[in-house]
Amino acid sequence: MTYLRPRDLEEALATRAAHPDWMMLAGGTDLMVNANHKPEPPGILDLWRLQPLCFIRVAEGSVAIGAGTTWHEVERHAAIQKTWTPLALAAREIGALQIQARGTLGGNVGTSSPVGDSLPVLLALDAELEVASVRGSRRVPYRDWCTGYRTTLLAADELIIAAHLAAPSANTHTTWRKVGTRRAQSISKVMGAAAVTLDGGVISAARVALGAVANRPIRVTAVEQAVRGLSPAKAAEAARAAMRTAITPIDDVRSTAIYRHQVAENLVARVFSGMIS
Ligand SMILES: Cc1cc2nc3c(=O)[nH]c(=O)nc-3n(C[C@H](O)[C@H](O)[C@H](O)COP(=O)(O)OP(=O)(O)OC[C@H]3O[C@@H](n4cnc5c(N)ncnc54)[C@H](O)[C@@H]3O)c2cc1C
Repeated sequence: MTYLRPRDLEEALATRAAHPDWMMLAGGTDLMVNANHKPEPPGILDLWRLQPLCFIRVAEGSVAIGAGTTWHEVERHAAIQKTWTPLALAAREIGALQIQARGTLGGNVGTSSPVGDSLPVLLALDAELEVASVRGSRRVPYRDWCTGYRTTLLAADELIIAAHLAAPSANTHTTWRKVGTRRAQSISKVMGAAAVTLDGGVISAARVALGAVANRPIRVTAVEQAVRGLSPAKAAEAARAAMRTAITPIDDVRSTAIYRHQVAENLVARVFSGMIS
């Protein structure tokens, strides 16, 4: 097996183009779990701490977070805590400290598991992903990124470079909630994030996203439409009603479909009841 730790992004992209079948390794916290049960890859492209992927850049009204940024770095970042709060809260509940010190944003987005905790946040905050190859770079709205169970729009010669998030407006209320078996080292049974904009006491726009209730993270558009024009108090009930037919979770080792449905309904209703002042 060949192993390469690129010196710079140019070398990383050239290697990716030349060897699309090589494993791309970042923190390894997803890849190493099943490494012994999978065929050995012909090579490893080690992206861990590749400097062009390790940054958090805050500009006027936006943040860019490099794919190589760890969850520990995201959670500790003052501007992310203040302005992109759901991402800092999700980062804090990914595994435990050891996982947060190794696991990266690029790895969560690259694995694209339906239980990836940052993914509903990227949907609710309407993030864009920047990906690059030797052919150039492009931006993909995160809402289009997931194409199925653990499949994405990433091309065989591309790397994930960064996530870009605009700052929510001052009248936008954002939330994050994870339900698992305990506070640390627990894979989500259901989790969700939302960004709800109030104008004159009524909801003018809402993005509500859930994980672990479908084969990929989803926006719950039925709820988003049902709450528009309502006060938060009325929205909580409307959201609950819309949730009854909005999702069809599965049974698996972590939860039954019935449990997931009920918890998801409660979680979404609380997004709105939590806004009542
Ligand atoms: C004990 C334990 C607990 C965990 N708990 C949670 C949890 O609570 N919530 C949660 O969401 N996850 C959890 N995870 C999963 C994992 O920690 C996260 O998904 C983490 O973000 C993965 O990042 P990584 O850098 O380790 O990815 P890696 O394992 O290195 O890579 C994962 C995938 O992403 C791809 N990839 C990585 N970087 C790039 C890039 N720049 N461009 C293109 N592709 C890329 C890789 O090729 C690979 O396919 C847990 C894992 C463990 C072992």
